[in-house]
Amino acid sequence: MKRNFEVLLRDNQLKITNPRLSVLRLIADQQFATSQPMLEKVLGNEIDRVTLYRILKTFEEKGILHKVIDLNGTANYAICSSNCSANAHHDEHFHFNCSNCHKVYCMNDFHLPAIALPPGFLAETLNLSITGVCKDCNL
Ligand SMILES: [Zn+2]
Ligand SMILES: [Zn+2]
Ligand SMILES: [Zn+2]
Repeated sequence: MKRNFEVLLRDNQLKITNPRLSVLRLIADQQFATSQPMLEKVLGNEIDRVTLYRILKTFEEKGILHKVIDLNGTANYAICSSNCSANAHHDEHFHFNCSNCHKVYCMNDFHLPAIALPPGFLAETLNLSITGVCKDCNL
């Protein structure tokens, strides 16, 4: 998936900065979600931890990235589908946790079923994850 990140930032009323572009490029480049430790490692020379944390939080609030907590409780970030917007995520897909390499994959083609909640209940996030062995480990 190729997106013009400068347009994406502008559409979300965010200033175009190199650290923001670097974070987007790195995350969009992967087939799997990118863990926070990995982001810190790769971007450590360019972006300090506090700035990185702020960028991720802003992107999450704007509906650009969604956070997935993996089996170890580590935060992973993946690019959102285009129908996410500020404070309204629609990433209703399964996440696959590999128990071997600990990567988290977005299963974008597998949507969660619509769940009818009892009256008075308001869903904010819905998480469904599968644990198993990913295609790279399952050789
Ligand atoms: Zn989203
Ligand atoms: Zn794996
Ligand atoms: Zn996802």
